[in-house]
Amino acid sequence: MNKLEHYLTNHLSEHAESFQELEHFAKEHRVPIMEPVSMNFLTQLIRMNQPNTILEIGTAIGYSALRMLDVHETATITTIEKDKDMYDLATKNVQQFDQSAHVLIKHGDALEVIEQLVKEEMSYDFIFIDAAKAQYQQYFAAVQPLTKARTWIVCDNILFKGYVSGESEADHKRLQQLTKKIQAFNAWLIEQPDYHTSIIPIGDGVSISVKIK
Ligand code: SAM
Repeated sequence: MNKLEHYLTNHLSEHAESFQELEHFAKEHRVPIMEPVSMNFLTQLIRMNQPNTILEIGTAIGYSALRMLDVHETATITTIEKDKDMYDLATKNVQQFDQSAHVLIKHGDALEVIEQLVKEEMSYDFIFIDAAKAQYQQYFAAVQPLTKARTWIVCDNILFKGYVSGESEADHKRLQQLTKKIQAFNAWLIEQPDYHTSIIPIGDGVSISVKIK
């Protein structure tokens, strides 16, 4: 962790203690939940935007979905997870937080579930993409029928450990290939004519795209 990250991590406002257990679980079982600084930033975006309907791609244990709901209690979140063990853990956590009425967890591959949501003519105010990094462009394109004017689409990990900007260098071929994919996605994303996009160097890098019309 560099000095800036250290400083920001030490200057986060408090969040509910009930989340500590999920954070410990994630650390112990190496579940990749959002980093504290970008998680804090995402909850701030939710406070600012006050979306009624949220779609999340990549549930893991339900941590980010529950954190978003914690700052905007009336929202409803649909969240997609393909891994059955993660889906089961997220279902248990959502029940334990007594949020089953506000969180709908869909088990399946994101692109297939999105296709289903499109058939159901769903639409969302806020979409959070945090699943397979190599597929971000496909997710972003696939969710277009689910958006409307002023929908926000937020993506996590778009600077991927500093590799994307060249701040640090990936030493494995797989990581280098993934870095190239994210670079291509970012270049594509900022060219999308229907969106204004900003890339924020916070946590592992977060993009915010606001649909113009
Ligand atoms: N958003 C979560 C949080 O911060 O608490 C963390 C999500 S984790 C980074 C990414 C999750 O996406 C993993 O649990 C993984 O199983 C899931 N995933 C990866 N590819 C997926 C796909 N194609 N469809 C649905 N889920 C996927």
